[in-house]
Amino acid sequence: MNVSDDPLLQVRGLTAGYGGAPALHAVDLKVDRGQVVALLGANGAGRTTLLRAVSGLLRPSAGEVLLAGRPLQRLSAAQVVGAGVAHVPEGRRVFARLSVQDNLLMGAYTTSAGAVATRLSEVLALLPVLAERSRQAAGTLSGGEQQLLALGRALMSRPQVLLLDEPTTGLAPQAVEQVLALVAALAGAGTAVLLVEQDLGLALAAASHGYVLETGRVVAHGPSAQLAADPSVAGAYLGG
Ligand code: ATP
Repeated sequence: MNVSDDPLLQVRGLTAGYGGAPALHAVDLKVDRGQVVALLGANGAGRTTLLRAVSGLLRPSAGEVLLAGRPLQRLSAAQVVGAGVAHVPEGRRVFARLSVQDNLLMGAYTTSAGAVATRLSEVLALLPVLAERSRQAAGTLSGGEQQLLALGRALMSRPQVLLLDEPTTGLAPQAVEQVLALVAALAGAGTAVLLVEQDLGLALAAASHGYVLETGRVVAHGPSAQLAADPSVAGAYLGG
């Protein structure tokens, strides 16, 4: 098979957990270029664990993570970023006392020194609200702006794959729209997005496909419209 036929991100038989107790069991999924895929499930279903296992923060005990066919599962988290996969963890975690610009520069640690200024201007052009506030301490931004900053920091590595953990949680409706518009624009430009989203309706509206996790296993997957019409999906989401 031609490498370009591979999904951009493919997870095969992924098993991972904490201290020997698997929180994920033989998970398979894929995300193509330009696709937004939602990872659905109740709290504790294993969504965050899956993102951590893909991004190299957690070492899987079995299975593969492939980027355009290239195995990532033995790489360090920094090497995974360098390969083209960026992770925006839940809760934003910006450095409150550092300026917006310095927070963005933190996302460029795998970028060659000569390319950093270009990346910064690209990200600020995409997120003009951050350009206006680039010298301000990140802690002075609104919740929505901090989420955009966390996204912008991830974009500094110019990722092919973006892993987003609950990027809209706790945001005002207008900020939710801004974040989802950015996600759609990034996908439109070819980025593959794996999205964990607390709100089932939002997740299925933002994504073309979804995977439902229940206690670490994929129990359903398919196009968003099909999942939206499946009452067992809402049940799994509510943990019922
Ligand atoms: P949430 O949105 O609540 O984080 P989730 O679907 O992302 O839900 P995970 O955080 O991946 O779920 O948790 C999956 C399982 O792994 C749960 O049983 C959880 O208790 C367990 N777990 C998560 N983090 C740890 C950890 N650091 N140490 C031990 N167990 C953990």
